[in-house]
Amino acid sequence: MTTPQVPDPHQLAALRERYRHERERRVRPDGAAQYRDADAEFGYYAADPYTEEPDRRGPRHDTVDVAVIGAGFGGILAGARLRQQGVERVRFVEKGGDFGGTWYWNRYPGVHCDVESHVYLPMLEETGYVPEWKYAPGDEIRRHAVRIARTYGLYADTLFSTGVTSLTWEENSETWIVATDRGDAFRATYVVNATGTLTDPKLPGIPGIEKFTGHTFHTSRWDYAYTGGTPQGGMTRLADKRVGIVGTGATGIQVIPMLAQDAAHLYVFQRTPSTVDVRANRRTTARDVGADREGWARGRRENYLRIVSGEDAGQDLVADRWTESAGLLEKLLPSFRRQSDRAEFEAAYEAADAAKMNELRARVEQSVTDPETAEKLKPWYRYACKRPTFSDLYYPAFNRDNVTLVDTADTHGIEHVTEHGVTVGPTTYQLDCLIFATGFNVGTSGISSGKLPVHGRNGVQLLHSWARRGPRTLHGFTSNGFPNLIQMGALQNASSVNFTHILDEQAVHAAALITAAEAAGALIEPSPEAEDAWIAVLAENAPDHAWFHAECTPGYYNREGRGRPNGAFAYPHSAVAFHELLARWRAESIEEILQDRTAHHSHR
Ligand code: NDP
Repeated sequence: MTTPQVPDPHQLAALRERYRHERERRVRPDGAAQYRDADAEFGYYAADPYTEEPDRRGPRHDTVDVAVIGAGFGGILAGARLRQQGVERVRFVEKGGDFGGTWYWNRYPGVHCDVESHVYLPMLEETGYVPEWKYAPGDEIRRHAVRIARTYGLYADTLFSTGVTSLTWEENSETWIVATDRGDAFRATYVVNATGTLTDPKLPGIPGIEKFTGHTFHTSRWDYAYTGGTPQGGMTRLADKRVGIVGTGATGIQVIPMLAQDAAHLYVFQRTPSTVDVRANRRTTARDVGADREGWARGRRENYLRIVSGEDAGQDLVADRWTESAGLLEKLLPSFRRQSDRAEFEAAYEAADAAKMNELRARVEQSVTDPETAEKLKPWYRYACKRPTFSDLYYPAFNRDNVTLVDTADTHGIEHVTEHGVTVGPTTYQLDCLIFATGFNVGTSGISSGKLPVHGRNGVQLLHSWARRGPRTLHGFTSNGFPNLIQMGALQNASSVNFTHILDEQAVHAAALITAAEAAGALIEPSPEAEDAWIAVLAENAPDHAWFHAECTPGYYNREGRGRPNGAFAYPHSAVAFHELLARWRAESIEEILQDRTAHHSHR
């Protein structure tokens, strides 16, 4: 590891000025409205290329105990934890054709998880599996999702290739009516919503995409029929193709080196360069991770969560660039408020950040031979402004003769798509294939987006009930007026780079709520007072990081440059503290959420 040089005050002032300039040339007046959904006439970009023929089945009008919406890791873990508690009638409803969620959809060449596999993959000890790589390829992760689903018998009652269209609370039966786009209207005593946070692909809202006559798709719907090959590469059908890729986020970083190998020519349309740190992926053995000891996976996950949450963990078991840079990423959360002298803290933070960013910019220079290209690839913002990425293949790809980097910062991204290519400034790049690595709508899937209408008690819509005072929950999971509906995700809940860990804790919590309600013959519904108390916890401690995001280049972390509201949107302390709080609440206070049933359950 290199020892970063701490910059002097003069250098820091120059950096500040450069960061301001780089931000200003990218901020757009239309903010998040610059994007368009992959639906209606652009629905093709979201269609499922992996399941050609959805199963033929008739609509369901029966009753289950639990409907789980979404069969990614959130839903899978909820199902597994429910089965561990003896809840049997669990039905999954999922848009994709199998279990896997994000790993079902994202099968682009080079797809990996950049969080260490031994902490990212859940239920390793329960399933007896030890990952083979420090950073697992997507296919290994998807197979693990399937492994958990098989281990816990979750395939027994699944509605794949099915989207939920509404949830309606029926007072008489005290059940939810779950309606879908395949004509189902079944009842569920409980609903667990696990529809994910980065799910729906988005596209630039620029003119002409619909006119492009070449081939086009989004990275989360990779068209191997067109490219040939597999996620390991070998896209032989691109050998005579001019390929353009838009986007250099965590996805672009992984896919670009693979396209560079196989395309006749690759044009990379970059707007903001990512930070690309050392990857150092390698094969691992069970011995490397101490997998012979009971509790090894849990211990490793807890250790990792502590470190990336800015807590003291003693030893660093994973020891990678995420854990090494945790101080720069998490300073905005718990540790920031612990500082007595804010100015002193900000100065120390800025110096450490500049040292790290200088190291990353030096990495570009060391890896890319053409100085002009290297200059364009350098990231000019603070480390935590954008999601960090990691690759040892990305920069060398730009040393190939068949790769051209097109910087689109001054035009705020690609401007037009024409019949035959992409226009940036005065130049049109002729392309046979145009691939969008432009990411996903953030937090807009599921019940808090409005795309899935939820009608609770007295027909009140969830979003209407939140319209005046903002989202209201207890611990992020449940809301008054919406009994037996449990929400998984980041809203008013904890978050972490190792999101499967968060999801597993949420799954344990969801299963505990349902088990307690079943045992008591009660409904799960927090009182308005319990919601008030939770919102007060979030609001009182909400970190003031508006100053930080206001200085960042635009992206989904700061609502495309508009800053992050300081509102009560996430648990303000560390994920570790949140998990402790939940465990204590389950042990001492779970009864507070149980309400008497009034209806007679004739259907059961
Ligand atoms: P991102 O939203 O992170 O990146 C989208 C990219 O598209 C950005 O580079 C953006 O530029 C660019 N872009 C958007 N519009 C235009 C335009 N009009 N012209 C030119 N460029 C444009 O999406 P990703 O799919 O890369 O990643 C989404 C998230 O998924 C990640 O942040 C991460 O959380 C997760 N992920 C995790 C992985 C893992 O290994 N764990 C791997 C891959 C993804 P700009 O930055 O200027 O907006």
